[in-house]
Order: sequence, then C-alpha cells, then structure tokens
Amino acid sequence: MKLSDILAGPGPHFSCEFFPPKTDKGEENLWQCIQELAVIDPAYVSVTYGAGGSTQDRTKRIVTRIKRETNLEPVAHLTCVGATKEQLGELLDEYSAAGIENILALRGDPPEGMDHFQATAGGFSHASDLVRFIRDRDGFSIGVASYPEGHPESKNGVDDDIRFLKLKQDHGADAVITQYFFDNESFYRFRDLAVASGVTIPLVPGIMPITNFDQIERFSAMCGATIPAWLHARLDPLRGDLEAVKAIGLEVATEQCRDLLANGVTALHFYTLNKSEATIAVCNNLRTG
Ligand code: FAD
Repeated sequence: MKLSDILAGPGPHFSCEFFPPKTDKGEENLWQCIQELAVIDPAYVSVTYGAGGSTQDRTKRIVTRIKRETNLEPVAHLTCVGATKEQLGELLDEYSAAGIENILALRGDPPEGMDHFQATAGGFSHASDLVRFIRDRDGFSIGVASYPEGHPESKNGVDDDIRFLKLKQDHGADAVITQYFFDNESFYRFRDLAVASGVTIPLVPGIMPITNFDQIERFSAMCGATIPAWLHARLDPLRGDLEAVKAIGLEVATEQCRDLLANGVTALHFYTLNKSEATIAVCNNLRTG
C-alpha cells in the first residue's frame, strides 16, 4: 500500500525506522526486533540507506525481505550519495519488480571521512531533484525529510528548509518525515510556517525515545537537534544509570507523543535504533490513554 494512501486514513499511525546492520548477527537481531514490533501494528516501516556499497545492498535485501515475508509495508530510503541517475534508476527498477511502492527520497549525509556533501557526476545535488526523478517513473509514493529546527547546512535556518520542502512537494513528494526534536513548540512553529508556504502533504514527526543519554547527545550534535535545558537537567545526573534514563526517556516520549496527538498530529515515526522495547512501551502508553 502506498504511503499517500496510508497517511490519508484517520490514524493515529505509528511507523518505525530501522538501519541496515553491518553484520549478520546484527541482521538477525533486527529480524527479532521487526517481529516484536508487529504488536504495535506499524502502518509502515522504513529502512535507512548508508553511504557505502555493502550497507546499500543490505538496505535492498532487508526491504525486499520485509515485503516478501511479512505483512508490514516497507519504505526504502534512497539517497543521492555516490550514485549516477542510471544507478538510481536501476535500483528503482529492482524495487519496482520486488513490489516496493514507497521510497523516502533524500540527499544523504556525506560518506565517512568527508565533511560535506559532494554531488556525483551524472547524479543529483538535492533531494528535490531525486524526488522529480522518481516521480517521472510510475508506481512509487515518495516521502521526504525535513527539519523542524533547521538542517545544519541551511544558511537561513528553517526558512530555507520550508522553501526546499515546498519544492520537494512541487516535484511530487507525498509526505514528510521530520528529524527528531524534543520541544514540540519547534514542530508547531515549523508546521505553521510550512502550511503558510503552501505545504499540504502530511508532516510526520520523528520521535526518538531516549534510552542512552550519551548516545543521544552525540546524535543530536551531528543532526542539529536541540536537547532542551529541562531535559538535560533531568538526564545529566543519571548518565551512569541506564534504567533510570530509560524510565525518563519513556515518560518524556509518551508525554511528547500525547501532546502531538492532541494537537492535530495523526502519524508518528519512531527512530527505533533497531530496538523494539522503547517504541513498544511508548505505543502501549498511548493506546492505554
Ligand atoms: P535536501 O533536501 O537536499 O537538503 C540538504 C541541504 O541543502 C539543506 O540545508 C537544504 O536547505 C539545502 N537545499 C535543498 N534544496 C536546495 C536547493 N535546491 N538549492 C540550494 N540548497 C538546497 N541520510 C542517509 O544518508 N541515509 C538515510 O537513510 C537517511 N534517512 C533519513 C531519514 C529522515 C526522516 C531524516 C530526517 C534524515 C535522514 N537522513 C538520511 C539524513 C539526511 O540525508 C541528511 O540530513 C542530509 O544532510 C539532507 O538530506 P535531505 O534529503 O534533507 O536533503
């Protein structure tokens, strides 16, 4: 089923994001996690796409296996990194043949060792170009990324992101999944600006349940997500106590999702980091009121 049709339904829709593990053992754990997450009845599940050859092959393998062996609807992330149009076209043909209907079209992060994105000769510079390329072929519903607190490279902050998000919509995007954030006000401001700029496609907030504070600080520094002072004050003294961090992470994510659902959001996308426990616990809390 297409992302556009899924998100047109009333919701709430819960979706999950996974990354392709580097080892066979990691892949086994991922399958376990995918099976466990079936209890929350995900509306779709997405699999990220790395910058290098072997992880890209794993993305394809995992996405096509999800389609073949489960009832879950997979979304394949696809980036412009290191690929020509012809290579991207070949992969899309393979996805099409495997019955994959949903692509999350991204520019991608620079490969390890590079500090900035460089377009490949014969490839694309921006996600919006990839969206147009995919839209020109039949059969895919297209999701894109956006950043309620601004993409780290955006010269004019959120204003740039809204402008380029509108361009992605104009080129054929059907839905937006956001970077994670902890302050819902930033999402509401972003949503208001997006709507005022003519963005009409669904905005799906990305949710990161915190289970390890050091890890979240690292990720947040890389992707530009702010850890608000109140959250830092709660978690900083507990760094050594993983169980206490998990409990606060669960409470914070549950409250954040409740507030979003009470304010017009109908779909939530969970960054699972290939672990099921936190996402299941949040969804159970939401379903039991
Ligand atoms: P773009 O929309 O191209 O934006 C990138 C930057 O360029 C922004 O600063 C934007 O303002 C600017 N820009 C955009 N269009 C133009 C234009 N026409 N002219 C000038 N400037 C422009 N990365 C991966 O490598 N693999 C993944 O699987 C992956 N999954 C992700 C999933 C989600 C939900 C999110 C939020 C991010 C994901 N990322 C992934 C990270 C993403 O690839 C990076 O944040 C990347 O730096 C930007 O990707 P984008 O698609 O937003 O790019």
